[in-house]
Amino acid sequence: MSVPALQIDALKKTYDNGVQALRGVSLRVEPGDFFALLGPNGAGKSTLIGSVCTLVTPSSGSIRIFGHDLIAERAKALSCIGVVPQEINFNQFETPFEIVVNQAGFYGIERAEAKERAEKNLRRLSLWDKAHGISRALSGGMKRRLMIARAMVHEPRLLILDEPTAGVDIEIRRAMWSYVVDINRAGTSVVLTTHYLEEAEQLCRHIAIVDHGLIVENTDMRSLLAKLDRETFVLDLCQRCDVIPLSSGVQLKRIDDTTLEVEVPKGTALNGLFADLSKAGIEVRSLRNKSNRLEELFLNLVERGQDGGA
Ligand code: ADP
Repeated sequence: MSVPALQIDALKKTYDNGVQALRGVSLRVEPGDFFALLGPNGAGKSTLIGSVCTLVTPSSGSIRIFGHDLIAERAKALSCIGVVPQEINFNQFETPFEIVVNQAGFYGIERAEAKERAEKNLRRLSLWDKAHGISRALSGGMKRRLMIARAMVHEPRLLILDEPTAGVDIEIRRAMWSYVVDINRAGTSVVLTTHYLEEAEQLCRHIAIVDHGLIVENTDMRSLLAKLDRETFVLDLCQRCDVIPLSSGVQLKRIDDTTLEVEVPKGTALNGLFADLSKAGIEVRSLRNKSNRLEELFLNLVERGQDGGA
């Protein structure tokens, strides 16, 4: 098996104020993947990403980037990642060219090489014609692209984008993603944190959902979407039911003596099921939709996304 781009094991973080932001997170991102980390505000995403970027010191657990342990081989591990932060954090009085060249300097890339790479990356992000003007004059979308160009200058194998589009309008988001998709196609692994479900859905192959400092789901996007397309009903019966009745097209499950459960594709009519139950002499006292934690979480996320992202 290939070495994972990112491997996190049993990561915990308790802040000084006693908040347990991460309660044992394990995660594996394969090389070449486009991976989404999704979760509501306060879930622990920034703490997780901060730990990978060494901005946060975990209380316990380990992080490996392309096989390099973040503590034992810190410099090697960090040279494998490029980070695009949430907020614009470059000196807006410098030119895009200076910003990218200086970043290369932090990685020990000598100046002539740094200049070449800066040009290559600014061209790649369609910023070359703005390279020598003041960065403050760039549009919001261009500023975010500049942060991607800067993050890519040392040719990291893993690009991490921490909610780079929160509060950014849809056109800027779309334009930005086309560049990130190209970067991923060219072989760079990508981890994206977001609370926009549609964004993750369109871009990512795998997804992990963080909630209250734990991974509550970790799967490929297709399976997740298939799961969200189904709903489960709980049927409370008037009498004991010892044999599971048959009903065409649905699979009933016996939970206890007087409770059955049925999982169906969303929007399925239940008349047939009730007719079959009546035929079998089973009376249903009540029916309720089993709440699906994942679905609730998504509803939450979508609502927040529609609010413009807090
Ligand atoms: P997310 O990025 O998913 O919104 P965070 O990782 O920022 O979540 O926060 C997780 C929890 O940790 C929250 O309860 C937050 O208030 C708390 N937290 C984050 N940073 C700090 C800090 N520096 N000190 C204390 N508590 C923090």
